Amino acid sequence: MGGEMTNKNENHYRALKNKILAAMIVAPAIPFLLVVAVGFYYFTASIERETFARMVRIAEDHRQAIEMFLTERRGDLTIIANSFSIAQMNNPEELRNIFDTLRQNSPAYTDLGLFNPEGVQTAYVGPYRLAGKQYKDAPWYKGVLGNGYYISDVFLGYRKSPHFIIAIAIQDGDQIWVLRATIDTVFFSDMVEKVRMGKTGEAYLVNAQGVFQTQRRSGGELLRADPEPIAHSERFEGVRTFAADDKSGDAYLYGATWLSEKDWQLIVRQEKADAFRDLRTAWLLAALILVLGVAGIVSMGFYLTGKIIARLSRIDSEKSQLNQQLIVASRLAEIGEMSAGFAHEINNPLQIIRSEQTLISVILDDMRQAGTLPQTPDTAELLDSVQQIKLQIDRCGNITQSILKFARQKDVTPQELSLSQLTPEIVAMVRKKAQVNGVELAISSDPATPKVQGDASQVQQVLLNLINNAMDAAIARHGASGGRVELRVGVDGEGQARLSVSDNGVGISEENLRRIFTPFFTTKPVGQGTGLGLSVCFGIIDAMGGTIDVASQVGQGSTFTITLPAAA
Ligand code: ADP
Repeated sequence: MGGEMTNKNENHYRALKNKILAAMIVAPAIPFLLVVAVGFYYFTASIERETFARMVRIAEDHRQAIEMFLTERRGDLTIIANSFSIAQMNNPEELRNIFDTLRQNSPAYTDLGLFNPEGVQTAYVGPYRLAGKQYKDAPWYKGVLGNGYYISDVFLGYRKSPHFIIAIAIQDGDQIWVLRATIDTVFFSDMVEKVRMGKTGEAYLVNAQGVFQTQRRSGGELLRADPEPIAHSERFEGVRTFAADDKSGDAYLYGATWLSEKDWQLIVRQEKADAFRDLRTAWLLAALILVLGVAGIVSMGFYLTGKIIARLSRIDSEKSQLNQQLIVASRLAEIGEMSAGFAHEINNPLQIIRSEQTLISVILDDMRQAGTLPQTPDTAELLDSVQQIKLQIDRCGNITQSILKFARQKDVTPQELSLSQLTPEIVAMVRKKAQVNGVELAISSDPATPKVQGDASQVQQVLLNLINNAMDAAIARHGASGGRVELRVGVDGEGQARLSVSDNGVGISEENLRRIFTPFFTTKPVGQGTGLGLSVCFGIIDAMGGTIDVASQVGQGSTFTITLPAAA
């Protein structure tokens, strides 16, 4: 039955614990996860935006720089065409002077030549012997006639270093001459090739057919076809960003833009993993925050739930203890009433026996005085017997008086009592007994102890009972010396008066602890204990609105503690 009860209780607490735990964890976890998720989403989005914005910025900046370079070169040629006559330019001496000035302006120029309306190079300054050559059918020559100016793709010149040419048409009457310069690409490919972004960020130029016009750092030889012909479709405005895999399957982020001067495309790209390195850190950070946060919430949940459950079970067990005490108290009251009736019933015949005994004693006395009582051993035995009857009647009388006191507490005159004053007076009554038995008696008293409302003789009875019990227990354990009984008078946390009697006696077993307040329960030999002392104490203290508690350890001693409400 008991086992079943505790099982039930345990199941109840486990279910309750699970519920509280779930609430404790779920309630803070939901907003926490939401905050982390939303924060992470916005962080990710902003990093992606930021990465693409950076690519667009780099692509635009570099496109502008390259275009500026090309425009400047075209501008150089236009200035020459405007500043010098065909005749002047056609003069090799003159053209060399012009070329020298040009090179001072930009060392990128490697040669300069003038072509007559038939496409023959009539004047040339540069490292080759190209004067007199015919270019009428060369694609660049057709291009410059059609467009007014022309920029070629990059090619490897005779010196196997990358070049491109820039040419402009010069109107001379109704004839068209052409001025052409060759430019070493080193001077502008550097601008592109030096772009750095993270570990893998790079930039390069390709022509409309997807052929590299500058070296690509991650593998892409000049003038070879781009192995990833990704963005070489038709022209578009501005910068386009997109993601694509390269030949070996690595994901890249791209930013691509067409030059306006020339059908070259500037491509900026970075490995996605590299570009989003910060993102990976963010992932790790979010995961860490998540793990730590969830761990924190869960352990907090467990901790608080444990505390709540512990408190609940303590309250429950206090409640059941209180119930138990109530049951004991009401049973005691019942027994009290019963024994009161019983004592009353016994008292009457006892009175009669007492008067009969007194009569017998008087008669025997009279006979002795009259000398009619023979001095025989039988007579002596008879007198002894009568004496013994008187003794036992007195004992019975005492017992019934105690029972009646316990039950009814008649003749009570309540008044304000000071325990710190009363206690030493009572202790004085038992000093002699203590001395004789080698028991040390100590009192400590707090002057702040509040007064209580009660009957002085009742309180005295309670205290004497407790002290006597304590001394008996101390003597039982220590014999003629070593016993110690200590009384403490003070105030408890709630402002009630508290009085405790502690001893270093034999202590009370767990089993007996439950029974000591029951009337007639005694462990003392027949004739020494009535078993009524503590039940009387209980009745008195209970009637005064107080409580009496005991704490005891077998072989170490006991402490009886009384609390009484302060007098109003
Ligand atoms: P009695 O003293 O007549 O036996 P009580 O009601 O005063 O009756 O005490 C009941 C029992 O409680 C005692 O017989 C004893 O076993 C136990 N008891 C009471 N006080 C103490 C104490 N201070 N130390 C040990 N046992 C005690």
